[in-house]
Amino acid sequence: MRIVEKFGGSSLKTIAYIEAVAERVKAVWEQGHQVAVVVSAMGDTTDDLLERAELLDGRQSPENLDVLVMTGEMQSAALMAMALVRHGVPARALTGAQAGICTTADYGRARIESIDPALLETLLAERVVPVVTGFQGISPEGFYTTLGRGGSDLTAIALASALGADSCEIYSDVPGVFTADPRIVPNAKALQALSYDEMLELASQGAQVLQTQAVLYARQSGVPVDARSTFETKPGTRIAGGNSLPAEPVTAVALDVHVTKIGLMGVPDRPGVAAYACDQLAQAGINIDLVFQALSHENARADIALTVADADREQAVAVCRQTLQDLGGLDLVVDGEIAKVSAVGAGVRNHVGVAATVFRALADAGINIQMISTSEIKISCIVSRADAERALNQVHNAFDL
Ligand code: ASP
Ligand code: MG
Repeated sequence: MRIVEKFGGSSLKTIAYIEAVAERVKAVWEQGHQVAVVVSAMGDTTDDLLERAELLDGRQSPENLDVLVMTGEMQSAALMAMALVRHGVPARALTGAQAGICTTADYGRARIESIDPALLETLLAERVVPVVTGFQGISPEGFYTTLGRGGSDLTAIALASALGADSCEIYSDVPGVFTADPRIVPNAKALQALSYDEMLELASQGAQVLQTQAVLYARQSGVPVDARSTFETKPGTRIAGGNSLPAEPVTAVALDVHVTKIGLMGVPDRPGVAAYACDQLAQAGINIDLVFQALSHENARADIALTVADADREQAVAVCRQTLQDLGGLDLVVDGEIAKVSAVGAGVRNHVGVAATVFRALADAGINIQMISTSEIKISCIVSRADAERALNQVHNAFDL
């Protein structure tokens, strides 16, 4: 078999950790498999490098910032290759560029355009373990680029796809994806399997096991991904196609507390008003998550409420204030004390009564639902932030996860 194994920073904190990982890689290599390794920077190295750059206004020169932050991965790749050699496994450290990863020139958030794995193929054929720096590539002009925070996941999945690997194993300090965040829901369990689509819903809602870009790439290329713990031997969670109709309606529940609700109150109740408001936000590059329009008042006015990510809050409020004025609305209301609880499952589409179960679970706990949105694989409710953790537990338990 051909396997790509990626190790995150928390698995590479010290030389002793790196040696433990090398032994793990050796055990797989000794079984006769072809193994390619992708590494993140050790521990908090990337954050430390970014802090140092901040002292010199590094963000003003993103092309140079990328050269700085990529050194974190170069260190860990070189050390990992040395550790493997020391354990009797031939290994070679390579940069993303040497691994053939060509990207756009968007420094700090480059997109992979193509991969030429020729050098990796040569090494693998010679039973050498390539140790590739995660999170980086090279632009068409020949400058180094990085792929955005958490980008080593993307490197691993993209290389697994280019190499036609049998699987891509993503190692971290957690044993996979859980039915809920175990820090909030004590009886949450590790999942054996879930689909790319489910993972995307969970990733964008704070489950943070895999970088979202990496999951999108895996879905596109069909690479099966195993999220596993470096410190355990359990198989972890398999993230793959998942075409069969699941027996259970809901796979996992997620909580996002980084959301803000903005209400445009008393706008004229006529066609085109909601479209105008949403257009203005879209033009500012702000993604709207949920929208809700309340029933018209007698005076032919309506209230529109929408939610945005906290990161977009300031800009979104400014745009909405202008929009309210343009439309001759009455008042702007901003509420950051909210949270989004979501029940996610490929089985939502082939089970009835899933939404009712969510609503009843919240009602039974006296939790008020402020907004609702549903999709083929998800039911989300906005609740008050004070109720958030209780709400997550309620919904988790309602589905016996
Ligand atoms: N070292 C980079 C980061 O901290 C990339 C990664 O870890 O995946 O974001
Ligand atoms: Mg990571």
